[in-house]
Amino acid sequence: MDLLAAFERASRWIDAYYREPERYPVLSRSRPGDIVRALPERPPEEGQSFDAIFDDFEGIVLPGITHWNHPRFFAYFAISAAPIAVVAEALAATLDVNAMLWRTSPAATELEDVVLAWLRDLLGLDAGLHGIIYDTASIGGFTALAAARESLGLGIRERGMAARGDVPRLRVYLTEHTHSHVEKAAIALGVGRENVVRVPVDERFAMRSDALERALREDESRGYRPMCVAATVGTTSTTSIDPVPEIARIAGAHRVWLHVDAAYAGPAAILPEFRYLLAGCERADSVVVNPHKWLFVPIDLSALYVRDPEILRRAFSLVAEYLETSDGDVHNYMDYGLQLGRRFRALKLWFVMRHLGVSGMRERLRGHIALAQSFAGWVGAEPDWEILAPHPLSVVCFRHAPPATEGAALDAHNAAIVERVNAGGEAYLSTTRLYGRLAIRVAIGNERTKEADVAALWEMLRSVSRPAG
Ligand code: PLP
Repeated sequence: MDLLAAFERASRWIDAYYREPERYPVLSRSRPGDIVRALPERPPEEGQSFDAIFDDFEGIVLPGITHWNHPRFFAYFAISAAPIAVVAEALAATLDVNAMLWRTSPAATELEDVVLAWLRDLLGLDAGLHGIIYDTASIGGFTALAAARESLGLGIRERGMAARGDVPRLRVYLTEHTHSHVEKAAIALGVGRENVVRVPVDERFAMRSDALERALREDESRGYRPMCVAATVGTTSTTSIDPVPEIARIAGAHRVWLHVDAAYAGPAAILPEFRYLLAGCERADSVVVNPHKWLFVPIDLSALYVRDPEILRRAFSLVAEYLETSDGDVHNYMDYGLQLGRRFRALKLWFVMRHLGVSGMRERLRGHIALAQSFAGWVGAEPDWEILAPHPLSVVCFRHAPPATEGAALDAHNAAIVERVNAGGEAYLSTTRLYGRLAIRVAIGNERTKEADVAALWEMLRSVSRPAG
C-alpha cells in the first residue's frame, strides 16, 4: 500500500475538517440502524484499496458522526483536542508499543512520569502525588476505590469478602451530584449500593461537610467501616465544587480515604486565579483530572494522582512468570491497575503541552470561562429566563420560565426548546435535572467556539422559545 498517498488524502481531509467542522450538522441526523444497513454483513474476502475504504468513511461513517469539534457543540462537557495531538496519535499507533512494563518501552513509561509531573506542578498539586495515566476518570476512580479498600488492611485481596464475619459493612460517601462511576466502582468492589451514602448538598449543590461528619460518626457507632469519601471539584450537572479543604480535614480525622474527582474542572487550576479549585488536595489520597476533557488532548487520557502508589501495587500487582523482569527500581505500570496492555498515551499530552505551551492552554481556558460568563449574563438579564445554578466555570444551567407555566408543563416547554435547537443541526445542547426540574445546560469547551457562536445560540434559544404564530 502507498502509505504516503493514503496519508496525503487523509491529512487533506483532516485539515479541511478542522478548518470548517461546521460544514456538518453538529448532531448526527442518523436514525437507529442507518449505519448497520449501509454496511455489508461480512468483511470482504479480498483486501480493498485505501481509496475504497476512505470513500465509505466519508459516505457511510461521517453521516453517523456527531461533531464534537463543531464550534456550536454545547452539550455534556464540550471538548476539543489540539490538532497536533492527531499527529501524536498517528505516531503512537505507528510505534504500536505496549507500555505494560518499563522495558517494553522505557520512553513510554518515563515520558508518562515526566508529563504527569509537569501537569501536577502546573495544577499546583502537592509534589508528593504520583501520577499514572488511565483511559478514563471512571477507571482511575475505580482504581482509587480499589486502593481505598486495600488500605483498610482487611485482607480482602487474599480472602475476599463473602462469608466473612470479620468484615464490616464498607461505606462510600458521595452526593447526588457525584458522577455515577463512583457508585459503579462501589458495586464492582463488593461494597454494594446500600452502602453508598448520599451526603446532603447545600443550596450550591456542594457536599455539606457537617452532614458528612455526622454520617461518618453514625456509621462508626454502628460498627460500619468508612472506606472512601468521594469529593467532586466540578460536578457533571452544574460544576458545583465540594468544599475539599473541610472534607479533607474530616476524612483525615476519621482516617478514611479521600478521592477527589476533578475530572472536568481540575484543568482550570492551571490558571492562577482558579488555583483555589484544588485547595485541600494536598491532603487527598487520590485526585483525578482529565486532560481529555478540558486540556485539549483527544479522548482518552485521564490522570490519576495518588499519594501512595504502593497501595495501588498492593491492590493490583500479580506478576505472571512470563512477565517477570529484573529491571530493578522502575515503574511497570501493569502493576497499578486492572489492565495489562497500555497505549502510549503520554505522547499526545507531551505534544499538546509543548505545542500550546502553558500560556496557550491558559488562554483557551480563560476564553471558555469568559464566554460562559457572558452567556450567563445575557440569560440572567432577560425577563422570563432564569439561571438555575452557580456557574463558576464554563457550564451554565438555566431555563425559560414564561408566566403561568409550571411543573411538568414547564419541563416539557424547556425540553421542546432543546429539541428544536438540536433538530436545526446548528447547535447541540443537553439537559439535566436540578431539584427535579428540567434545566437546559450549555457547556463551552471547544477551541473553535467564539463569541459569535454563543450569541447565535442565545438568539436560537430566544427564537424557538417564542410562542408560534
Ligand atoms: N467525573 C466527572 C465529574 C465527570 O463529569 C465525568 C464525565 O463527564 C466523569 C468523571 C467520567 O469521565 P470519564 O469519561 O473519563 O470516565
